Amino acid sequence: MHIGFIGLGNMGSAMAANLLAAGHEVTAYNRSQHKVDALAAKGARPARTVAEASRAEVVVTMLADDAAVEAVSFGADGIVESLGPDALHVSSSTISLALAERLTAAHADAGQRFVSAPVFGRPEAAAAAKLFVVAAGAADDLTELAPVFEAVGQRTFVMGSEPKAANLVKMSGNFLIASVIESLGEAMALVTKGGVDAGEYLDLLTSTLFDAPVYRTYGGLVASREFEPAGFAATGGLKDVRLALEAGEGLQVPLPIASLLRDRFLTLLATGGGHLDWSAISALSARDAGGPGPVA
Ligand code: NAP
Repeated sequence: MHIGFIGLGNMGSAMAANLLAAGHEVTAYNRSQHKVDALAAKGARPARTVAEASRAEVVVTMLADDAAVEAVSFGADGIVESLGPDALHVSSSTISLALAERLTAAHADAGQRFVSAPVFGRPEAAAAAKLFVVAAGAADDLTELAPVFEAVGQRTFVMGSEPKAANLVKMSGNFLIASVIESLGEAMALVTKGGVDAGEYLDLLTSTLFDAPVYRTYGGLVASREFEPAGFAATGGLKDVRLALEAGEGLQVPLPIASLLRDRFLTLLATGGGHLDWSAISALSARDAGGPGPVA
């Protein structure tokens, strides 16, 4: 398949490399050109503009946030203007329900197709093609895209025919992960201040009732305080909690824990930790208990 790939950050560069490895023809674009050059060395065709990358059967976007997706999708030489009739835009970024709705409508008006396919998994999982893809859109479009999803992930979950449903599921999942990070931080602060070794405590958790990837991955980061380099930056964590709160407001679903998490991320950003991994909110509990905070 000829795929245009837009957004070669921590996640996108690995996903695009896996599409190439699976034998797809990839034309790649990134705002900072040096990341395109790195992928071109692996066989991608470099694109100097969004419009150039959009001359494909499928264009995948994997960008930071709503503002980035809007910047490449709309306006002169954007994806909507440049994509051919009947071609597909697959949005894998974690974006708002409002933007997913806007993209669905804009592509339909232009005689094109739109699918939301955000992913679960950190950059290591993206590199190993082990992401979990959460996809929503027309059934025929999802069938056509199966080779794309198979190249980047280990399993695809279909959430129905309305693209925005996949975005809702993705933000709900990140809300759950952030809740686990916060509660792990609190529990870890408690036991370590009481003299228990963090590594031994984590071994107990993950060998018993908490034997799940989220506890293993984030428990390791919380216990070791390895917050740099960020696999997913705290600024992104704040974005995703905000997206969940926004969705909750729209659907009239109170999310009191998400409100608390929003304040935790704001505190981390306000104290110079925006660049740290989002798991660094866990160290706020240690700091509140008189120990070291997230920023060294
Ligand atoms: P990242 O490393 O920060 O990369 C962000 C990408 O967006 C870069 O290609 C960046 O271009 C581009 N970008 C940012 N603002 C832009 C703008 N205004 N116009 C055009 N391009 C812009 O982020 P990431 O970790 O790959 O995450 C990408 C998406 O996946 C996000 O929505 C994130 O929430 C989601 N996600 C992340 C993870 C994770 O663990 N990291 C896991 C699952 C989902 P430059 O290179 O020029 O800055």
